[in-house]
Amino acid sequence: MTEPINFFAGRVAVLATMHRKEDAIAPLLEAHLGVTVAVPAGFDTDAFGTFTGDVKRPSDQLTTARLKAAAALRQTGESLAIASEGSFGPHPQIPFVACDRELVLLIDRTHQLEIVGECLSTDTNYRSQVIHSPEDALAFAESVGFPQHGLVLKGEETDQILGKGITAVDKLVALVEKALSQSPHRAARLETDMRALCNPTRLTVIAQATEHLLQVIFKTCPACGCPGFRQVQRWPGLPCGQCGTPTLLTRLVRYRCQQCPYQQDCQPVDLPPQADPSYCPYCNP
Ligand SMILES: [Zn+2]
Ligand SMILES: [Zn+2]
Repeated sequence: MTEPINFFAGRVAVLATMHRKEDAIAPLLEAHLGVTVAVPAGFDTDAFGTFTGDVKRPSDQLTTARLKAAAALRQTGESLAIASEGSFGPHPQIPFVACDRELVLLIDRTHQLEIVGECLSTDTNYRSQVIHSPEDALAFAESVGFPQHGLVLKGEETDQILGKGITAVDKLVALVEKALSQSPHRAARLETDMRALCNPTRLTVIAQATEHLLQVIFKTCPACGCPGFRQVQRWPGLPCGQCGTPTLLTRLVRYRCQQCPYQQDCQPVDLPPQADPSYCPYCNP
């Protein structure tokens, strides 16, 4: 049976990025897969959407990552590509908490494989605030890890970007004073810059998504050894440990091979065989 490393070792993996995501992704992939990660020269990912909102993302996270990977493969003529895509917003279960969902995608045209790693983290400084003075700006900056983390300044009325990647106090103050003097209400908006090169906290979450990608790659098909034996379906209904009522927790997971017809249904390894009664609609309505 072939080991996953034999699928990738010695190959070039093109990374579709222009924001230094290779700092988080390349060391892990090179160490565990034996690939050489290369960033295509002059690759423009801003065409696929920006966090500052000046270019809209063409589609959902996974589709956008696929488009980036396909563009990098076209530009370089290689057969192995990595793309990553982040999304920020309220946590799906805890609406008052901001979270960062990072996805790292591997596309292998030689073996017809698509493998996805993901990380959902509440460790993010994603935030924005209307400010009325340089003192407001400095207080916000301090609360979001400036100057290690960059800032974006926008006009409050116009939403126009007045500066991004701001990482120096004198530049921040100068830009804020100019923005306030030009605003009828002496207001401007400061946002955290979420681009990977301006946001070490985000780079850490991208590295965690890359680690998950490696876990999925190294889960191999029991029948043919193909990497990326992946979850394709989940069924809820894990019974309550006290009364046996089905809960919304996952009861069964289906894994499927990408190259042979083999599939396997199993209980999730990360959950106990019965649900805690706190999840039960009968015991804890
Ligand atoms: Zn298989
Ligand atoms: Zn119950």
